[in-house]
Amino acid sequence: MELKKPTIILDLDETLIDTKEIKRRIFNLVEKTGVPRGVAVGVYRQMRKKSAFDQRRYCFELKKTGYKVNPNLFNNLFSKPKDYNYRGAEQFLKNLSKHFNLLLLTFGVPSFQNKKIEQAGFKQFFQKVLITEQESKLDLLRTLKSGTGKIILIDNSKVSIYTAKRLNAPAILVKNRKSGVPDYRAILTKLKEV
Ligand SMILES: [Mg+2]
Repeated sequence: MELKKPTIILDLDETLIDTKEIKRRIFNLVEKTGVPRGVAVGVYRQMRKKSAFDQRRYCFELKKTGYKVNPNLFNNLFSKPKDYNYRGAEQFLKNLSKHFNLLLLTFGVPSFQNKKIEQAGFKQFFQKVLITEQESKLDLLRTLKSGTGKIILIDNSKVSIYTAKRLNAPAILVKNRKSGVPDYRAILTKLKEV
């Protein structure tokens, strides 16, 4: 790592990739097996209150409602490279990587997050990829803050932004344009101010 460059810590879901689309496809797949959409969505939401999405766990929870779904059903979700990448995300990373060290810090179950990261083709831009099952990201952010010097967080989650602020680290909340795509230009502008 070049020490002179400040470090930006980037979120993955809803910051660089369209996770809502992944969710939509999960529900579509489950619905096709005969599960009512309301059940598919409801079970998902209940599970997410306790933990990140995990396909095995999701199927296990669906089974409790009387629906048998094979976890392999989701195997093809990530077969097409860059399928969920937001328009402009790659260029955004390319721009950032010229001036900053980039770390990816994502909340989720490692096996599932790794598939998304692999598919997105973003690894080349990051010095390090960190996956945490702690939604606030507090522990890893604290470690990064104490070890890396200046860090700046870019995340669409208010919870993570709050964590960074508590640690006295600058943080930029990702906002979407009307199209639903993050406003990367606004982030680049804000970066000049922090
Ligand atoms: Mg996110």
